[in-house]
Amino acid sequence: MKNIIVIFALLIFSGILAGQKKIEKADDTALQPVSSATLPCQMEELTSPQFAKAVEQSGGVVVIPMGIIEKHATHLPLGTDLFEARASVIRAAEKEYAVVFPPYYAGQIFEAKHQPGTIAYSNDLMWKLLEETCAELSRNGLKKIILFNGHGGSTYFLDYFCQSQLASKKDYIVVLFQSGPDQALDRQISALKAAKLDGHAGEEETAMMSYIRPDLVDKDNLAGEPGADQKRLAEMPFGFTGIHWYARYPNHFAGDIVRVDPKLGDLLIEKDANQLAALIKYLKNSNTVEQLQEEFFRRSTDPVNNK
Ligand SMILES: [Zn+2]
Repeated sequence: MKNIIVIFALLIFSGILAGQKKIEKADDTALQPVSSATLPCQMEELTSPQFAKAVEQSGGVVVIPMGIIEKHATHLPLGTDLFEARASVIRAAEKEYAVVFPPYYAGQIFEAKHQPGTIAYSNDLMWKLLEETCAELSRNGLKKIILFNGHGGSTYFLDYFCQSQLASKKDYIVVLFQSGPDQALDRQISALKAAKLDGHAGEEETAMMSYIRPDLVDKDNLAGEPGADQKRLAEMPFGFTGIHWYARYPNHFAGDIVRVDPKLGDLLIEKDANQLAALIKYLKNSNTVEQLQEEFFRRSTDPVNNK
């Protein structure tokens, strides 16, 4: 009996060892030098030598997925826009290699300062941070910078930031991703949609989060507050004012129905990823933006004599 126990114990022990070997083998593979084909796209995951390879492999193209920390109704996490932006950008970089900048959550969000959890940096800081981030990327060889905006409130800021690139000579370009129609995917997307009003933290954002991180969607609190347009400035004709969003959606929720459909989220991410991959590919293969920018700066130093 004792012998049987000893043999049994040995068998278990050798089994454990065999298991350990398997794990060691898996670890060994993970420690192999990363070939250029398997370079991670996320900048924070790269070693310094791998980063140098990534700059080459990306053709100098980097994408900054931009989010914000703000209320997303009562059921989505504060970082929703960042999760969404990063999911689309990482998928795009897997289709067409580019370096993906680490989590970036500084943007324009003054209109949500009355809600818990909003991080609203000053104009000076958000401008400086983005300006210096771009300059530092350029200094590291990433001279084709794509901004991918996941937060509606930053739209005007980012448009103006791009326009302002022409204020002084740069050795890099900044391009803001703009999504467009996609006949096949748009058809599939609208077939899955039920909401009549779908804006901030509505059906689409809920779908994306339920695809990316379902554990962070609080299903017990779906649409826990009204999301209808309160139209409190509807009487004001021909005017835009900063308080317009608060006048319409003070709960930081703009939606009528909230369903949880991860398939819809997957399609929305796929659409953006395909279009962003096309933009990455274009910038890798073309220097037209750089050339036009160069020509512009040359002429603008002496507009009378430089034709
Ligand atoms: Zn959002």
